[in-house]
Amino acid sequence: MSILRMTKTLIKNLFHGPFTVSYPIEKKETFDRTRGSIGISIDDCIFCGMCERRCPTNAIHTDKARTSWSIERLKCIQCGYCTEVCPKKCLMMENHYTEPSFGNVRDVHVKCTNTQSPSES
Ligand code: SF4
Ligand code: SF4
Repeated sequence: MSILRMTKTLIKNLFHGPFTVSYPIEKKETFDRTRGSIGISIDDCIFCGMCERRCPTNAIHTDKARTSWSIERLKCIQCGYCTEVCPKKCLMMENHYTEPSFGNVRDVHVKCTNTQSPSES
């Protein structure tokens, strides 16, 4: 690297400021294909358990009897494999990050299966 190029880089970095952000106070810019966190369209889920079986970190738990699907956010490594194997394509990689926390966070989604008509209640 020539002295001139090095000096240019040095001056540019001197006045640029930090490249890091004070997360979570300051949010980092995300892009369309950012691997942020897994989302689910729970109404389309059939609780087949495919995502649970294929998840390499055992982050997902499904319960067919309770029609619930849950994910341990800190276990997820954002590989996206669950979105690929889901037969209903109801899992998606959202481009925003999970909120920071001190403990392990399990997000639980329950499908409402109450098909009772108003006259039956
Ligand atoms: S693979 Fe898809 S349909 Fe099956 S339990 Fe997971 S999210 Fe639901
Ligand atoms: S993205 Fe990967 S690690 Fe995260 S829940 Fe899906 S399969 Fe598991």
